[in-house]
Amino acid sequence: MSMFLSKRLLELSPYVPGEQPRDKKYIKLNTNESPFSPSPKVIEAVSDKEVADLRLYSDPDLKALCGAIANRYNVPAECVFCGNGSDEVLSFAFLAWGSDCGVAYPDISYGFYPVFAGLYGLNATSVPLEEDLSLDLTKFYNNGKMTVFANPNAPTGLCVTVEEIKKLALNNKDNIIIVDEAYVDFGCESALPLIFECENVLVVRTFSKSHQLAGARVGYAFGNPALINDLNRVKFSFNPYNVNRLSCVAAIAAVNDIDYHKACVDKIITTRNRLKTELRDLGFEVTNSYANFVFAAHKDINGREYYEKLRSNGILIRHFSVPRINNYVRITVGTDDEADTLLKATAKILNEVK
Ligand SMILES: *Cc1c(COP(=O)(O)O)cnc(C)c1O
Repeated sequence: MSMFLSKRLLELSPYVPGEQPRDKKYIKLNTNESPFSPSPKVIEAVSDKEVADLRLYSDPDLKALCGAIANRYNVPAECVFCGNGSDEVLSFAFLAWGSDCGVAYPDISYGFYPVFAGLYGLNATSVPLEEDLSLDLTKFYNNGKMTVFANPNAPTGLCVTVEEIKKLALNNKDNIIIVDEAYVDFGCESALPLIFECENVLVVRTFSKSHQLAGARVGYAFGNPALINDLNRVKFSFNPYNVNRLSCVAAIAAVNDIDYHKACVDKIITTRNRLKTELRDLGFEVTNSYANFVFAAHKDINGREYYEKLRSNGILIRHFSVPRINNYVRITVGTDDEADTLLKATAKILNEVK
């Protein structure tokens, strides 16, 4: 740190992403990426011509990309905003709507929410999850703050219903409700229809998890046109060309390849459900995850130790040194073969600690 750094940034703890190791080949189940390649149509779309066109700026209005998403999900194009990953969309949202009222989020949720709050100096409240790690949205009623949560939640994988979200929107009418649907394709009900009923609901999505495009950095949001205008106001004050040309054509091809997307999602759901069962058979407590990860704890081995032992077996998962979930680990659902390797290594580790 230099002596010139602003005080607010000095006090901030930046987000810590899962490792992207280069030292050796691991089975990588730590950052909720897809184990599958992008659609063949994506690979075709990123053509030599598109590469040659990199001399030109990308479209600041992202008309083709927003149009493709609007088309796919059957909403007007003016209800769609696109960003450089959903992290950027979220950060614009915090900046647009959190400054005056502050922000509230669950105590156990996506680790970036407190970071954005700190970065922008927002008054932030974290509201505890229930004892069973479920999310009770009535605790956010009329708190006078912008509310942000992930559905399914991360890293628990648990869902709330659209009915519960609607009640929250009606009981916090003067503030924005952000529903982060990074994992919604893996089995939760989407709050998308609410954008037409509730003018305070923004639904945020990403191409990183279910569309095999984490490295392309494309995220988007659905909301009524006034909210989308607010986000554009931030974007055009920050980075007008926020999504690059290659990522645009890649995301358009991905969103249009509905069959490939569905086939990949179905495989992940099948493997996830098998992992839940087989980890329970090994004595783990496993939450009822509707995401592309499972969240599990075992009474014979603490979360940190299990993480470290798997790591020395060449398997990377995620452990969070956070109160209440210290004993849990989050394991990304990979291929069936990767699940087999994980289960075998786990059985061996459990045998050693007994
Ligand atoms: C992965 C993730 C994101 C960020 O996704 P990007 O689009 O890759 O920036 C946002 N929210 C949650 C809950 C996530 O898990």
